[in-house]
Amino acid sequence: MNDFFQTPIEFLKGVGPQRAELLKKELNIYTYKDLLYHFPFRYINRSTYCLIKDVPYLENSAQFKGTITRISEGGRGRAKNLSALVEDETGKLELIWFQGASWIKNSLKVGASYQIFGKPKIYNNHWTIAHPEITPWTTEALSIGFQPVYSTTEKLTANGLGSKGIEKIMQSLLQLVPTQCNEILSLEIVNQLHCVSMVEALLQIHAPATENQIAHARYRLKFDELFYLQLEMQIRKQVAAKKERGFVFPAVGDVFNEFYTNHLPFQLTGAQKKVLKEIRKDFLLGKHMNRLLQGDVGSGKTLVALLTALIAMGNNFQAALMAPTEILATQHYETISNLVEKLPINVSLLTGSTKKSKRIHIHEGLENGEIHLLIGTHALLENVVQFQNLGVVVIDEQHRFGVAQRAKMWRKNTVPPHVLIMTATPIPRTLAMTFYGDLDVSVIDELPPGRKPISTTHRFESHRLRLFEFMREQIKLGRQIYVVYPLIKESEKLDFANLMDGYEAITRSFPLPQYRVSMVHGQMKPEDKDFEMQRFIKGETQIMVATTVIEVGVNVPNASVMIIESAERFGLSQLHQLRGRVGRGAEKSYCILLTGNKLSKEAKLRMETMERTNDGFEIAEVDLKLRGPGDLMGTQQSGVLDLKIADISKDSQLVVLAREIAIKLVESDPDLSFPPNLPIRNEISKIVKSKPNWGKIA
Ligand code: ADP
Ligand code: MG
Repeated sequence: MNDFFQTPIEFLKGVGPQRAELLKKELNIYTYKDLLYHFPFRYINRSTYCLIKDVPYLENSAQFKGTITRISEGGRGRAKNLSALVEDETGKLELIWFQGASWIKNSLKVGASYQIFGKPKIYNNHWTIAHPEITPWTTEALSIGFQPVYSTTEKLTANGLGSKGIEKIMQSLLQLVPTQCNEILSLEIVNQLHCVSMVEALLQIHAPATENQIAHARYRLKFDELFYLQLEMQIRKQVAAKKERGFVFPAVGDVFNEFYTNHLPFQLTGAQKKVLKEIRKDFLLGKHMNRLLQGDVGSGKTLVALLTALIAMGNNFQAALMAPTEILATQHYETISNLVEKLPINVSLLTGSTKKSKRIHIHEGLENGEIHLLIGTHALLENVVQFQNLGVVVIDEQHRFGVAQRAKMWRKNTVPPHVLIMTATPIPRTLAMTFYGDLDVSVIDELPPGRKPISTTHRFESHRLRLFEFMREQIKLGRQIYVVYPLIKESEKLDFANLMDGYEAITRSFPLPQYRVSMVHGQMKPEDKDFEMQRFIKGETQIMVATTVIEVGVNVPNASVMIIESAERFGLSQLHQLRGRVGRGAEKSYCILLTGNKLSKEAKLRMETMERTNDGFEIAEVDLKLRGPGDLMGTQQSGVLDLKIADISKDSQLVVLAREIAIKLVESDPDLSFPPNLPIRNEISKIVKSKPNWGKIA
C-alpha cells in the first residue's frame, strides 16, 4: 500500500535524473513521499489585497494591487538604484531596487497593473518596499489563495528549483495524490480527532485556499508525526514487557530491613518513599524494571539508589551503581561505604585508575559472589567484568551515557538485570514522553527538609571587587566557595587563559597562609585532579577554582557560594546543575552569576530565570523553549526527533493526545491486526525498519 510514496523522485513530471540527483544531495528528497513532506515554511497570502492606506498598520508582509505611475533611476555607479511609484485608489507606495536596476526597469511598464508583495518600511521619509515580489496583475491572480514558500538552496535555484520551481513540481505530484494516496489512520481515530483526511491534509498544506485550511492540514500532519513516534514507543514497551521477564524480588530482605531500622541517617522524604514503592512494585511483579528516576539536584537520589541495591542484595543478587566520572564514582563509594559500614555486605570500587592487581581481585570477587555491590565508572561495562548474579543496575546521571552502553549492562546476566536510570536534569513532561515513552518514570519532587533556597543574583563583571569582599566574609564564617569558568571546546585556548588569569587574581586577592585555593580542570592528570578535589572536600582549601568538571554530582555540604564566571556562556540546565553544588548543607547559600555588560535577549532571559526560580522542572521548560528539544537531549538522541512539522515544546497538548491514542490502540489491538488498523501496522513497521536500532533500552 502507498507504494506511491516510495516512487523515486526522478519519475515525477518535471524532475528527471539531473534534478533528482540535486534534490537528493541538497534536500534529502529521494521519493515522492520526501517531496510531499517537504512542507512550505510560510505562505504568501494571495487571497486578499491590502489597501495602500492601511500600510502603517501592517504587521507582516502583505500583497497589494496597484498601477505603476512613475519609474525613476537614482544614485550613481555601484549605488545606482531604481524606484517605482505604485498607486491604488487609496494611496501611493514607493518600490525600490538596489540591485538589478536595469533588468527590472525593462520588465516594468508605466500604466500597467501589478500584484506586489512585501513588507513596507519607512525609507527616505515615505513608505517603501525594498525588493518586492512583483508580477503583472491578471484576473486569475486572486484565485491562487495562499502561495507556499519552500526552503531551497542556491544550487537548486540555479537549476530551476527555487521556491517557485518546487511549487511547480509539487503541483504535478499533488495531482496524483487523490487517486494514489490512501488514508492510514482508521476512521475511528480520524473521527475522534475531528481532523481532515491524509489526502486533504497533503493537498491543503501545499495549496491552501484559506488560512483555516492551513491550520487543519498542520494539525493533521503534526498529529501523524507525533502519533507514530508514540506508537513506536508503545510497541517497544509492549515487546519488552512480553519478552523480558525480570527477576522477582519477593521480599525487601534482611539487609534492607537492618539498614532501614538501624542505620538510616534521616527520615526519607515522602517523595523518596513514593519512588521506592514504585520500584518495589516492579520487583514484586516479576516484570523487567526499566525505570527513569528524575529528581532535581540534591533531592536525595543516592539514598534511593542504595535502598534499591539493598533489596537486590537481600534477595541474593548483586547490584551495580555506575556513575559518569571517576570523582563521582569515588564519592558514591565513600558515601555508601560509610552508610553500610555495619552491614554484612562487601562494596567495591572499580574505575579506570584501579590498579591491575586490585582489578583482578575485584573481577574474581564479582564472579564468585563475594562482592555484593560494585560502584564504578564506564569500567563496569568492560566484558571482563562478569557477575555471579547481577540483579539490578543503577545508572547515575544517565544523559552522559549512550544507549549502547546501557544495553551492555543488560547482558551482564542471563535474564537482564533491572535498570534504574537516575537523572538530575529534569526533563519536561512532553519530552520525557517522547524520548522515554517506553520507560516508566518516577519523580522525586520534593527536597529533603531544612534546605534553604539558594539566593541567586546576576552581577556584571565590574562588581568583582565587591564580590571578593563578600567571599572574604563567607570564608570568615567558615564556608567554602566555588568559582567556575566555562571551558568550551571551540574556544579552549582562550578559556584556559581566562581560567588561569582568574586563578591568579584570586590567589593574589586571597593570599596564603590565611586562604588556600584549589584548582581543578580537565587538562590535569586524574590523580592531581582527585588530590585537589579531595583537599576541597576535606575543607583544607576554601576556594575551588574550576571548570565544569565539577558540574555533576559532587557533594560538599559546607560549600555555600557558587560563583559562575561568564555565566552568559552557559546553558540553563548547566547553570542549574552548577548551582546545585551549593545549598546542600544547613547554611544559607548563594549563587552569583557574573556576566559581561552586553547580553543577548536570550542570555538575559536565562539570568532572569535563574534568579526567579530554583525549580529544575520550571527551568527545564524554559530551556526547552529556548533551545528546542534536539539540543536539550544532546546530539546523541536528536536523530530521534527529526520532526518536520510538530514541535515538542509548542505542541505539548498534541503530544499528550497522540500518546493517549497510541496507548489505547495498543491496548485494544496489541498486534494491530484488526482490519481498520492494518494500514497503521504497515506504516509503523516501515518506520521501525528505517531507524537504526537504538538498542534494547531506549
Ligand atoms: P542528588 O539527588 O543530587 O544525587 P544526593 O543523593 O547527593 O542528591 O543528596 C543530597 C544531600 O541530601 C546529601 O547530603 C544527602 O545525604 C541528603 N539527603 C538525602 N536524603 C535525605 C533525607 N531524606 N533527609 C535529609 N537529607 C537527605
Ligand atoms: Mg547525585
